[in-house]
Amino acid sequence: MKFSEMPYNRVDFEKLQSDFRQIIEDFKNAKSGEEQFEVHKRKYKLSDAYATVRNIANVRHDSDTSDEFYDAEQSFYDTVQPQYRELAVEYSKLLYSSPYREYLEKKIGSVAFKNMEIMNRSFKPELVPLKQEENALTTKYSKLLASAKIEWNGEILNLSMMRKYRNDKDRATRKRASEKTTEFFMANRDELDDIYDRLVKNRTQQARLLGHKDYLPLGYDNMGRNDYGIEQVERFRKQVKEVWVPFVSKLHERRRERLGLDKMYYYDEGMNFPDGNPAPKGTPQEILENGRKMYGELSPETKEFYSFMMENELFDVEGRKNKRGGGYMTYFPEYKAPFIFANFNGTEGDVDVITHECGHAFHGYITSRLYDIDEYNDITMETAEIHSMSMEFFAEPWISLFFGEDTEKYLQMHLEDAATFIPYGCMVDEFQHIVYRNPDLTPAERRQKWIELEREYRPYMDYEENEYYREGGYWQAQHHIYSFPLYYIDYCLAQTIAFQYKVRMDEDYKKAWDSYLALCKMSAKEFFSDMLITCGLKTPFEDGCLREIVDKLSAKLGL
Ligand code: ZN
Repeated sequence: MKFSEMPYNRVDFEKLQSDFRQIIEDFKNAKSGEEQFEVHKRKYKLSDAYATVRNIANVRHDSDTSDEFYDAEQSFYDTVQPQYRELAVEYSKLLYSSPYREYLEKKIGSVAFKNMEIMNRSFKPELVPLKQEENALTTKYSKLLASAKIEWNGEILNLSMMRKYRNDKDRATRKRASEKTTEFFMANRDELDDIYDRLVKNRTQQARLLGHKDYLPLGYDNMGRNDYGIEQVERFRKQVKEVWVPFVSKLHERRRERLGLDKMYYYDEGMNFPDGNPAPKGTPQEILENGRKMYGELSPETKEFYSFMMENELFDVEGRKNKRGGGYMTYFPEYKAPFIFANFNGTEGDVDVITHECGHAFHGYITSRLYDIDEYNDITMETAEIHSMSMEFFAEPWISLFFGEDTEKYLQMHLEDAATFIPYGCMVDEFQHIVYRNPDLTPAERRQKWIELEREYRPYMDYEENEYYREGGYWQAQHHIYSFPLYYIDYCLAQTIAFQYKVRMDEDYKKAWDSYLALCKMSAKEFFSDMLITCGLKTPFEDGCLREIVDKLSAKLGL
């Protein structure tokens, strides 16, 4: 069904609550695993119906924030959502402690039960006041950053408006824009330190209430990590330091030569080419149509997926007045339909919508037609990003449709940016491990740790005379460090798998694609490492995983 024709009626929330309570009662009274599973299927139906109307209201609100009808609908769901959550948690506890667990585990999988175990052990009501304080602190951080008013050529700009000038073709402009930006951070350094200090202490206290020594195990639980732990992640970061950092340093050197600079400084980081970065050609409609050509040729599965998206109006990508900023992928379960929301702005980011976001959507499309077990869709973050980041590479044979004569430039930039991201992401991750393991570090000691990590992960980074960066303040602009603790390594793990696919598709495209398709189809049915191994991949925790990628990429690039 076309998005514009999908009917919308506000959910009768009282009826939904009483239906949910009935499901809970029937589940309790069921006399066998078979009976409980029948009740469980009613729960799928209820939650799918609810998610469908809620997501439709959400998208229609975002597509025109001045529409009063959907504005009211959006507020309605915001208000009732906590009550829905409460019922969902109550139900999940019942399911987890079912006397017919063995039968149910066969039906919905052991990953699902592991996830419930993690959810149950990471919460108790005593945490609520701390969690409220934690939310207030992260909101304070966001508001502080959003309040930035930077004077620029007679105008007042915010941090995201400054980004354009920080990446300006003119070197003096980008240097001045970077300095202006860090002036804001320097002026607010004490407050940023104070917010973070409170967050670290708050999270440590939450963990101790649950019997942990520090926040790390709880942080892993909060990320829903059901397969790997601190040691595995350490092994991955060790490989990054030993193998990946030297590789990125070479790429960095090559970029410096291309830019014609004697030395690269921090304000040159966003530059890939002296005459600016490549931008896609064509109107938004042409970009979408080129996506149809690309997915039509890539495989029968992607062809079917993309036609479905286009025929059912499941893209909203054009920038408009009153449209919400940013982009995301969402899903309408009752129609088995993914939906992509974006704001095209004429940069290479527009093509990411066709490659990256469609990677997420393709997974959703495929698995919803394959399974009627909702738990199979509960993928963790690193898995979700494999679907999307790998698709960016699988799109390479068709990238000239979007970039024309700039194709080579785009491919080079994409590879360099993806490679350079891994050490940065690992640094963000290791920093947080140090901080949470030592919650009593002072702000100055934290900054010192950051400086030491910079030397290991980004030895080529030169902050020139920028005092704020030289004194280890860089991390304070990284939203995730404040608001989504320990969520960042997920991108690095996914990027590593995407690079595995990159070197494999260079050798045998079809074979690499078959493995990717199998991985998408497995969804959250198996645990992360098992899934990778079944699909013929190496886990990023395994020694030699990065070495192999680096050797093959270096040979190809002549490094
Ligand atoms: Zn993504």
